[in-house]
Amino acid sequence: MDIHMGDIVRLRKPHPCGGYEWRVMRVGADIGLKCQTCGRVVMLPRGEFERRLKAIVSRWPDNKPASL
Ligand SMILES: [Zn+2]
Repeated sequence: MDIHMGDIVRLRKPHPCGGYEWRVMRVGADIGLKCQTCGRVVMLPRGEFERRLKAIVSRWPDNKPASL
C-alpha cells in the first residue's frame, strides 16, 4: 500500500456527514484520516483502511494548500 501523509483518498462508504474524501494525517500501524467535508479526524487500523479504500484522489504535494 503506497500511501503517504497529505494524500487525499476516497473510501467506499461516505462519512455520516456525506463526505467521501479524506486527507491522510498519519501513517503507521493506524492510519489517521481527516474528513475533507466536516473536518472530523478518525483513526483506522491499516488493514481496515486498505479494505475501505476505493481510490487515491490526489498526491501530496500536488494538492498542497496555498496557505502552507
Ligand atoms: Zn465528515
